[in-house]
Amino acid sequence: MENTRCFANRFSDYKGALLPEQGAHTIVPIAVATIDKVLQKIPVDLSDCDGGLYDGPAGVAFMLYHVSECPLFSEHRDTYLKTAKHIIDAAAKYADAEPDKNMRAAFLLGGAGIYAVAAMIYKSLGLADFVKPLSKFRSLWEVCAPISFLECGSDELFVGRAGYLCAALVLRQKLGMEILSKDQIKSICQAIIESGRQYAWRKRKPFPLMYSYYGTEYLGAAHGLSSVLQMLLSYQDMLSGAEKDLVWQSVDFLMNQEQNCNWPAELGAIIERENELVHWCHGAPGVAYLFAKAYLISKGPQYLDTCIRSGELVWQKGLLKKGPGICHGMAGSAYVFLLLYRLTGNSKYIYRAQRFAEFLFTKEFKTGSCSLTSVYSLFEGLSGTVCFLVDLLQPDQSEFPLFSVFV
Ligand SMILES: [Zn+2]
Repeated sequence: MENTRCFANRFSDYKGALLPEQGAHTIVPIAVATIDKVLQKIPVDLSDCDGGLYDGPAGVAFMLYHVSECPLFSEHRDTYLKTAKHIIDAAAKYADAEPDKNMRAAFLLGGAGIYAVAAMIYKSLGLADFVKPLSKFRSLWEVCAPISFLECGSDELFVGRAGYLCAALVLRQKLGMEILSKDQIKSICQAIIESGRQYAWRKRKPFPLMYSYYGTEYLGAAHGLSSVLQMLLSYQDMLSGAEKDLVWQSVDFLMNQEQNCNWPAELGAIIERENELVHWCHGAPGVAYLFAKAYLISKGPQYLDTCIRSGELVWQKGLLKKGPGICHGMAGSAYVFLLLYRLTGNSKYIYRAQRFAEFLFTKEFKTGSCSLTSVYSLFEGLSGTVCFLVDLLQPDQSEFPLFSVFV
């Protein structure tokens, strides 16, 4: 039976040689042309910057920043950064005017992410003013510290505390300075852990930490357990011994929810083979980042094995029909190979990422994939694709956008 979610992978696997035609001389012009396309699609009137980094104009500003940091694009650096500043200033203005302070504290869908990216762009431009968006970002910790600050679920990545911690992590990496005090980080981590304990206890779960978002117990990176645990691991130095135990027990619990190299979108669901989700947002391509982090910290081989199995599934079922993006599209699949390359140093994974890059520009992909609602978006559209193409050219420093594991 034909799979409705992905194209068949007819590529031969790695035989010891990379694809010379997927080098900088081809990829750089393709990336530049794709950026031009993105900039043509972005609204001229930026008074409405809804969608945050996920699918608002702010995500384009991040992409331009990311490209401008790559030496292969040095001749475009000034133009890209200038445009990035223009967009992020409009987005920050929009976030400033947001009446709901909880939305202002959201990472991928609201103000926190916008302020974080504004600080990065300002810093990159050498503007001392970067402290302004940074202090706005810092002031938001107070908003997300109360245990149930959001009714829909206070802990996930897009609007909750894991997102806030993720933004702080990326900021620390890009700015090279401490963003939050130890006490601030501890209090956020403790709120996440307490919230997860209370939920697991209330719902009589047989494991220590669980969360829900709009009533659904997601497991994947987008709104689920895996990215919450990933952030707790990223700050594990701030946790007590007992808190660390809870986190690692939960990591192992999630590892045991694997069904044939994949994870269901929701806790307890059974994966139907023909219809399974192999997305960053739901499934192995997103959960892999948690186990990558667990491996980097503990060196436990079972975590690396889990990542490798995820990569095999993505090679089989990752040529997605849902577009070129990073959330549930081709670039999101290909980023798993770049992650595996960084974990193992095995060039096979660069080769696989090159094949996925190649497929992105085939007629089969263009005619057979869903049409895009947001062409320029970072997570669903071409801005994420551009980030991937740039990272393919510098695989040693590649990272899924705004989702750092190697820090
Ligand atoms: Zn998605």
